[in-house]
Amino acid sequence: MAPTLQQIREQFPILGTTVHGKPLVYLDSAATAQKPQSVIDAESQFYATINAGVHRGAHELAARSTMAFEDARAKVARLVGANAQEGEEELVVTSGATAGLNLLATAFGNASLGRGGQAAQRFALQPGDEIVVSKAEHHSVLLPFQELAARTGATLLWFDLDEDGRIRSDMADEVISERTKIVAVTHVANVTGAITDLAPIVRRAHEVGAIMVLDACQSVPHLAVDFHALDVDFAAFSAHKMYGPTGVGFLYGKRELLEALPPANFGGSMVELAWMDQPAQYMMPPARFEAGTQPVAQVVAAGVAAEWMQGIGMDRFEQHERAIAKELLKIGDIDGVRILGPANDRDRIGTVAFEIEGVHPHDVGQFIDAQGIAIRVGHHCAQPVHRHFGVYASNRASSGIYNTVDEARAFVQAVAQVRPFFH
Ligand code: PLP
Repeated sequence: MAPTLQQIREQFPILGTTVHGKPLVYLDSAATAQKPQSVIDAESQFYATINAGVHRGAHELAARSTMAFEDARAKVARLVGANAQEGEEELVVTSGATAGLNLLATAFGNASLGRGGQAAQRFALQPGDEIVVSKAEHHSVLLPFQELAARTGATLLWFDLDEDGRIRSDMADEVISERTKIVAVTHVANVTGAITDLAPIVRRAHEVGAIMVLDACQSVPHLAVDFHALDVDFAAFSAHKMYGPTGVGFLYGKRELLEALPPANFGGSMVELAWMDQPAQYMMPPARFEAGTQPVAQVVAAGVAAEWMQGIGMDRFEQHERAIAKELLKIGDIDGVRILGPANDRDRIGTVAFEIEGVHPHDVGQFIDAQGIAIRVGHHCAQPVHRHFGVYASNRASSGIYNTVDEARAFVQAVAQVRPFFH
């Protein structure tokens, strides 16, 4: 039987804590989600029972840890519509979305230097080529691709945003051209909470033969995501935002593209043959991209998180968080409060950024924190979108599966008290 919201909440020990003498109301899941006990236990159980290096030991523990590691990869793959059969794997283990996006940009840069041979030339950039991002991007998309453009002489272009901060996908035919080699955009924006209308962007990227990269950091924790159905070429996301541990993420790539992509990091466990006087022969994906010792216990726990999410059902996540978003958005009715993003609950998640006229975001954050409510303040690693709204920083409340409508109402009440308190 499906667990009730109360039963879900009881699985999160941290939700039983108090802050400033008040029960914790956690509305900062876009920064990092809290962890159910099963995920917390999975990590320590791994160390207590099967801890060993994966993929290289001849002993039984190594075989067990390898099995647990690969099983976790398969669980995460099931959640996001990726292949995981041996020899067909489409998920690479990384240390997070940032690492995945940097891995890609570095690998494209290596291809531009002629590494990876003929097969990798589809990723190569040169002056005159274009890379397209959007103004809504987290710095972890913007900066690696900006650097890649600087290294290769390619030009960085971007999608503008509409007044709600939505990516102007209606401009896809103009922004993406025959010169475009890479398109990298977010699936769900971490400031506005807006879900990108991806179809026109993906269609146009494929039409011109560009590589389509998706930042799925803020979609995988909240929506039913299927990378095959979305038809993106690569996608990066982090386990810690999807109820899993920190220090782990995944890079999805269509199998034939992963096979053609040159490596970005070099070291142990990614090479078939290494010589002093000849180039090395690298392993097939995903090993080619997983140099060095991986965070095995954390990957195993990420698998538990993915399975836990699937057990609850992503439809339920969407439905529940839409109800929370509806409540959070009521701050838009408060005098002096401006929502930075779509003010209605269509095509968005429960991540709501806002400013309060005349009150610095840090003061807002502290005032709300004093009531036991955790929200985030600052630029949320996305300065261009803040400039789009004409502000330097903002406040952001963001939901998870464990939030209640009462918590959202308590937040709205707290926001309503801010201006009267400071003026
Ligand atoms: N992309 C988006 C949209 C994000 O919200 C974040 C994290 O805040 C990232 C990328 C980077 O994720 P991480 O810091 O886990 O690498």
